[in-house]
Amino acid sequence: MNRTVAVIGAGTMGNGIAHVFAKTGYEVRLIDINAQALEKGLATIRKNLDREVAKEKISAAEADAAFGRVQGHGELARVKGCGLVIEAVIENAGLKQKIFRELDGLADADAILASNTSSISISAIASVTKRAGQVIGMHFMNPVPVMKLVEVIRGHDTSDETNQAVLDCCEELGKTPLVSQDYPGFSPTAS
Ligand code: NAD
Repeated sequence: MNRTVAVIGAGTMGNGIAHVFAKTGYEVRLIDINAQALEKGLATIRKNLDREVAKEKISAAEADAAFGRVQGHGELARVKGCGLVIEAVIENAGLKQKIFRELDGLADADAILASNTSSISISAIASVTKRAGQVIGMHFMNPVPVMKLVEVIRGHDTSDETNQAVLDCCEELGKTPLVSQDYPGFSPTAS
């Protein structure tokens, strides 16, 4: 997977997800259709990085470098060139399917498309794409920079390669992945 990720939606979850990827060294494209929401999301990342500096968790230089890796954009087409796209728009199945249909046409053929949905079926989201094997759930918890758990939700057709790439990515971010089945509520599997 290449080291550039796109996050769709700069709200509560999207800006937190962008924050942790940027801190880990990824180039991040934070994409929101609402310019004000995008500005607010970027300002929140800056504020939260500064808070980590104040608590002496990271240096000022590390915060500046992380923030410098986040670019804000208004167009979905900016997913081109990203190895991983994480959708974090509002919890609406129709909107998520519309976005995934567009992402399927815009993203690189080998890109993984992930959703941060809390409850919508990953299989249903994947069904509107021609790459269901590369569609998966990455359910981060709020506040993302603090919470360690990430539920990884496999759809019916999610490939082993996609699952493994996302598990590796979670570990690199310092998160603890937990693989769940694609049920409403994402009941965790035993293993
Ligand atoms: P939010 O309302 O804070 O942010 C959503 C953002 O998406 C907004 O900035 C909005 O402008 C943007 N957006 C809407 N339509 C868009 C489009 N077509 N293209 C690009 N951007 C668009 O929402 P949130 O709380 O961050 O939740 C996002 C997702 O994460 C939801 O699926 C939610 O269920 C899930 N989630 C939320 C939490 C939580 O505690 N907030 C926890 C886990 C998972």
